Amino acid sequence: STEERIENERTSSILLLAAGVAHELGNPLNSLTIHLQLINRKLRRLAGEAPAAREVDAVADSIRICEAEVKRLDGIITHFLEAIRPQPPDLRETNLGELLAEVLAFQQRELADREIEVEAETSAGLAPVMADRNQVTQVFFNVIKNAVEAMPPGGHLRIKTHADDEAVYLAFADSGAGIKQEDLTRLFQPYHTTKAGGHGLGLMVVQRIMREHGGQIGIESKEGLGTVVTLRFPRKDRRIRMLAP
Ligand code: ADP
Ligand code: MG
Repeated sequence: STEERIENERTSSILLLAAGVAHELGNPLNSLTIHLQLINRKLRRLAGEAPAAREVDAVADSIRICEAEVKRLDGIITHFLEAIRPQPPDLRETNLGELLAEVLAFQQRELADREIEVEAETSAGLAPVMADRNQVTQVFFNVIKNAVEAMPPGGHLRIKTHADDEAVYLAFADSGAGIKQEDLTRLFQPYHTTKAGGHGLGLMVVQRIMREHGGQIGIESKEGLGTVVTLRFPRKDRRIRMLAP
């Protein structure tokens, strides 16, 4: 009903606002962490010279507590952002080949900088699917970013597309480091990351979006050889009505 729709829109704009605030809090928290560390370092240097070492120790303890609290706040925000459900997909008839070409064009610069050779089938003749362009862009972006991050400069990224009666498939094959056998089952878990600056949320989001599209993601990998990520989208004419939001 119209009322429901207005209520939904209200809720999602509030969530969007809250997400924005939570996101903005990240910067001051970062700055706080950095300055606390600076103060701590300075203090330690002073402590070497001053006779009042015990007092300096007490201040250093307080700083450590502040650092821990800042970290806790940061964790709360991250969890909050993760808990906010994305908006239901706005499904429209989409050619995934064309969408892929757009995403690749956007990432071209970074791919070239890293000397990654890309071979992609971006056929405009691919069978249409029902997709939320923004969300699927996010999926492609995350999958390509992971491939890039797994490769040293000078790798290959091959993207193949095909369709059968049921679905459209995209396979992203990289020549990167691959994934350890024991990590394969944990890829979609929130916060699972093997990267120093990673968040471990990318694949979780990708999986959620694929599910909401009635599709699937599969990952195969051999350590040292590379990884293949396969996305499966049901064809427009095969989409089960029930899956529509
Ligand atoms: P993040 O990229 O922040 O670490 P993701 O959820 O995107 O989080 O990925 C989780 C983990 O899955 C990565 O840290 C990495 O270990 C592994 N992974 C994902 N894609 C690839 C890939 N193409 N090659 C190797 N490892 C990958
Ligand atoms: Mg990632």
